[in-house]
Amino acid sequence: MKRLSSYLGGAWQQGQGQTAVLVNPATGAELAEVAQCGGLGEALQWARSTGGTNLRALGWRARGEILGNLAKLLHGAREELIGIAVANGGNTRGDAKFDIDGAIGVLAGYAALAAELPEGNGHLLDGEAVPLHKGSKLRAQHVLTPRLGAAIHINAFNFPAWGMVGKFAVAFLAGVPVLSKPATSTSMLAARIAEIMLAPGVLPEGAFQLLLGPAGDLLDHVGPQDVVAFTGSADTGAKVRGHAKMLATNARVNIEADSLNAVIIGPDVEAGSELFDLVVRDCTIELTQKAGQKCTATRRILVPTALLGELKDALVDRLGAIAAKTGDPADDTHRMGPLSSASQLRDARAGVARLATAATRVLGNPERTAFGGVADGVGYFLEPILFEATADAALDASAPFHHHEVFGPVATLLPYDGTVEAAARIVGAGQGSLVGTVYADDRDFTARAALALAPTLGRLVLASEKIAGASLAPGCVFPVSNHGGPGRAGDGGELGGRSGLAFYLQRTTLQGGAAELARLLGGE
Ligand code: NAP
Repeated sequence: MKRLSSYLGGAWQQGQGQTAVLVNPATGAELAEVAQCGGLGEALQWARSTGGTNLRALGWRARGEILGNLAKLLHGAREELIGIAVANGGNTRGDAKFDIDGAIGVLAGYAALAAELPEGNGHLLDGEAVPLHKGSKLRAQHVLTPRLGAAIHINAFNFPAWGMVGKFAVAFLAGVPVLSKPATSTSMLAARIAEIMLAPGVLPEGAFQLLLGPAGDLLDHVGPQDVVAFTGSADTGAKVRGHAKMLATNARVNIEADSLNAVIIGPDVEAGSELFDLVVRDCTIELTQKAGQKCTATRRILVPTALLGELKDALVDRLGAIAAKTGDPADDTHRMGPLSSASQLRDARAGVARLATAATRVLGNPERTAFGGVADGVGYFLEPILFEATADAALDASAPFHHHEVFGPVATLLPYDGTVEAAARIVGAGQGSLVGTVYADDRDFTARAALALAPTLGRLVLASEKIAGASLAPGCVFPVSNHGGPGRAGDGGELGGRSGLAFYLQRTTLQGGAAELARLLGGE
């Protein structure tokens, strides 16, 4: 069987330790294997010395041009990459495009941002110079410079392209070299993208390394100028944050973890309206795209009690049609593929059983085993599952649908009285989410809901009839928007245009005479 290679310390290596087999989650076919690698301390040191020096020698704009070139290279390999995502990720062609085009989009987005940054390669200004106190000739000016460490990126299985490349684009533009560790089960796509990135002449030496297989002792080698960006489960996130070396060095950490994302349907939305149709379309996409294995997928649907019956009927209808077309994504007529691994299916079924203790299942059979294009019992499929809670249960902050993220095509309808107060209470019971969406034409409701919900969310999408035609489903994260959320969602923040660079930059106050600072910094 083909063994995939890591790229560490300037050389491709196949690893010698414990091995793991990567499979097609629809058919169970074995595709490749990866093996644990050592020498991670040396790899990080190579990043800091060779990679960091090479990157900082380039300016913001030169780094941006390299990102733009990489976007073109990945675009050129798009069809091949889609094929890998279908085989190893269980992605439909549409799912695969979402991941791969998302990756290309972040490269292009940060390449465009770079064109707005200064010509130099040293620093960025953060705000303006301000007097130390009233009447003082002395000024304080915040400057941002690239940290001297390595960026360690640990990614989840669900977006092997977007997760790896998106994090890379931001770190690279900031001037910090990357060591990227994809989740093992879907790492074929990340491995192929890494080969493209590491072809001679594409990136400066040392700017990017790939670690396949387990993380091993990687975090034991973290240093005080390093940053660690993690995406995955809350449990692993807590281990990363609490790792003894992370605590001892105060290396920076960014965690993106579980999230019980909510949509809030305003009291003015009527069945059959354009906005109602948009809710149905978006909820269907968010439940079934990538078989619901999206950090931004909708898990809780807040619906005014009077609209519950019509919304339920419409969703059961749409999701039922997808359930009938769930199967091997290699067949283009199938609209949803499998979960990514046996353990994901096991976890999702256990999660469905947990939700069933507090809500009624109105669609879907978690034990179904017959799916399109494969023999009965083959593949890790789960059909779309919709729950409905009572209005009283929806207000119960201890209910499992507020705490347990089932990482699959599963959501719960939560009826509420249509007030902003109840909506904020229910959304807040999720203890911090990546994204929320308000669907309403009532401007007063939207304005009050936005202020009430914002502190518990990383991103809030405002959808109304006026923009229905141009609206994208809330799970779509653009490079200019923040990706991260408070509390349970990890309290992290990635992307967000220029603000995303801050994680990789050191903020220092330069304090001195106004004229001296102006001479020294001369604008950005
Ligand atoms: P996971 O098991 O936590 O794994 C995430 C990553 O951490 C993988 O690369 C994994 O490597 C690695 N890892 C595992 N143990 C580690 C350790 N002790 N030290 C360092 N790295 C370690 O999560 P997953 O199963 O891939 O992803 C599913 C979860 O991620 C879901 O619950 C979902 O909510 C969450 N998620 C969140 C976001 C977000 O942006 N907020 C996005 C996607 C997913 P191996 O694969 O080699 O074990």
